[in-house]
Amino acid sequence: MGGVCKETANDSVEAKGVPKNVGLMWFRSDLRVVDNTALIASSRHCNSVLAVFVSTPMQWHEHHVAPIKIDLIHRRLVVLRQQLAKLNIPLTVVEVADYEQTPQAILELVRLHNIKHVFCNKQYEWNERQRDSLTAQLLKKHKIEFSAFDDECILAPGKVLTRKEEPFKVFTPFRREWLNIYRMEMPKVMAIPAKLNRSESLDTVFSKSCNQFTYPACDSVRWPVDEEAITQRLRTFCEEKVAVYHQKRDIPAVDGTSCLSPYLSIGALSPRQCMAALLAEFPLCFDEPENGAFCWLNEIIWREFYRHLIMAWPKLSREQPFQNWTRHVVWQQSDSMLKAWQQGMTGYPIVDAAMRQLKETGWMHNRLRMITASFLTKDLLIHWQFGEQWFMSQLIDGDLASNNGGWQWAASTGTDAQPYFRVFNPTIQGERFDPDGSFIRTWVHELKDVPDKYIHQPFLWNQAESLNYPRPIVEHKSARLRAIDVFKQAKSFM
Ligand code: FAD
Repeated sequence: MGGVCKETANDSVEAKGVPKNVGLMWFRSDLRVVDNTALIASSRHCNSVLAVFVSTPMQWHEHHVAPIKIDLIHRRLVVLRQQLAKLNIPLTVVEVADYEQTPQAILELVRLHNIKHVFCNKQYEWNERQRDSLTAQLLKKHKIEFSAFDDECILAPGKVLTRKEEPFKVFTPFRREWLNIYRMEMPKVMAIPAKLNRSESLDTVFSKSCNQFTYPACDSVRWPVDEEAITQRLRTFCEEKVAVYHQKRDIPAVDGTSCLSPYLSIGALSPRQCMAALLAEFPLCFDEPENGAFCWLNEIIWREFYRHLIMAWPKLSREQPFQNWTRHVVWQQSDSMLKAWQQGMTGYPIVDAAMRQLKETGWMHNRLRMITASFLTKDLLIHWQFGEQWFMSQLIDGDLASNNGGWQWAASTGTDAQPYFRVFNPTIQGERFDPDGSFIRTWVHELKDVPDKYIHQPFLWNQAESLNYPRPIVEHKSARLRAIDVFKQAKSFM
């Protein structure tokens, strides 16, 4: 174990006569003090609160979490520690060697500090649910209360159901019902918890420093993590950009989307904060489905939809397709093709530009995620799990629910997915969404001098030989037909 904020039994506050009603706030993917359901509950129930973040490098490694995302978490924890200190809530970071040791690590803290009650916000992924259930059982044995709250969604999983009280499998009716419920309830942003009494003994026993995690480092500094910068980004987007979101959101060369997903994924921002900022500018957006504000709201609801899905169908967190018949798809295995895709060397400029941007910056625009995912799963016919894993290992906003949802959508294996016979043409996608090739030229330097006319098919240019750029690794027309055929055959097993 390295990089741990260590504590020893000798530090036990029990012996030092600290407050009786001590609570533990366990932070996970909710790294904020504003609008944090569990944090507010803990400060209401207890007269002293300690906070902990458990880092699990082995599990991050196993699940291919991007180093840049971990760096973002780490930097955000430093800010969170300062914010919590102002509320007299000390934060410590504990590293466990193995994910399965998390319940025990929580129990040790609880015993060490005479804690009566553990608070956290629920996570909906399968492994996280197992971990929480084990922790709850262990704490119960020791007569410690464990309270987990719904916080990650505006409307919690289980709340938006069909008339038969079942989870929705299709987005549009889900959204309709989501909007119906939302209009009735309108969950509001919750304030920062009240300042608790200072307890010097707790302060001193809880470590002050927040050491680096033992995980490969990758600088996320391009993404500010202080409260003001994050909320300002949200406000500016809602004031200046959301009105034209529907017109600009598909153009990667334009700064037309909010770029808030990294903050939503680590919980530095809540979806309720997004809704509040949106409604402050566009109170009538529900009634105007043609406008930019509604279009953005739609994306927030997609985020919720995918969370509701992983909760209702645990198999999605366990590497299984939603559509059972797609298990029969005979995927291709080609390390060289997979590598060409990962490194941005497919010979399709829009795909390569996107993949190189991802590798260099940890970010990819939504339209490009759709194009590159379609290219991998249909043109190359490589299993979507390889793409899901690669994205997770690179993305600063890597998030199981949305990533899995996006990949299964593109691969036609998910619920409400792209039908298998509709295959994106990467050249046409490039022409539509990067017409003058400015995005391509930014990331594929070999193509910067190619005339506009050939930017999407540089191999047709009469000077193509002089470019140090590959020819297309597959021919789209025949690859499309192959994919449709393979899916058709898989479906015939039904
Ligand atoms: P905006 O367009 O400003 O949208 C606002 C917010 O809505 C986003 O921040 C995000 O939280 C949510 N959102 C937007 N689009 C989607 C969507 N299609 N599905 C779910 N939520 C959405 N998003 C992630 O947060 N993490 C991922 O790991 C991830 N992987 C993806 C993989 C694939 C193959 C695809 C097709 C999509 C993936 N998405 C993922 C969804 C989407 O691409 C990103 O949320 C979006 O690009 C983030 O940019 P933004 O914050 O500017 O979004």
